[in-house]
Amino acid sequence: MAARKVLKLGDPVLRKISQEITEDETKTKEFKKLIKDMFDTMKFENGVGLAAPQIGVLKRLVVVGVENSERYPGTPDIEEKILINPVITPLAPVGAGFWEGCLSVPGMRGLVERPNKIKIEWYDEKWGQHSEIIEGYKAIVYQHECDHLDGVLYVDRLKDTKLFGYTDVIDTQGNELD
Ligand code: ZN
Repeated sequence: MAARKVLKLGDPVLRKISQEITEDETKTKEFKKLIKDMFDTMKFENGVGLAAPQIGVLKRLVVVGVENSERYPGTPDIEEKILINPVITPLAPVGAGFWEGCLSVPGMRGLVERPNKIKIEWYDEKWGQHSEIIEGYKAIVYQHECDHLDGVLYVDRLKDTKLFGYTDVIDTQGNELD
C-alpha cells in the first residue's frame, strides 16, 4: 500500500496542464508503480476516481473505480479503469446537475452541471485504444477527473456559489437543477 499525499485546492500544481503520455513511458517500472500508487491512493481516500496531477504528477492519466461508494452513497458502482491520454467529446448539452466533491477539496460539495452524455477515447496501460459512449453518473465522474488534466477543478464550474458548502452542513436536497 503506497497511498500518496493528495494535493489540495490552492496548490498551483493542480492548476497546470498535464502532459501527454508516450507508449514508451507506459513500459517503464516507474509508470507501473505510478498506476499502482494511484489506485492505492484512490482507495485509501475512498475516492471514485483520481487524476495524476492530484498526487503532483503532471501526466494525462486518470484511474477510476469504486464499489459501494462511502463518499457518494446510493450512486452506481464504477468499473476499475486506467485512462491514458483521455479525450472527451460532449454529446449532450450542459444540463445534468450533480453534487460533486473532490479529494483535492476535502469536506465540501457543490452543485455542478455537465453534459449527461459523452464520448471518451483513451489508451489503456497496454496501449490498447478505446472509445466508448457513456451516460449519467459515470459520464459526470469521467468529466470531473479529466478536467484535472487541464488544471480545472469542479469549483470553477459551479453554476451558483450559494450551492457550494461543507458536506456536513449544506442541504443537497431540493436543489436539483433542471
Ligand atoms: Zn477531483
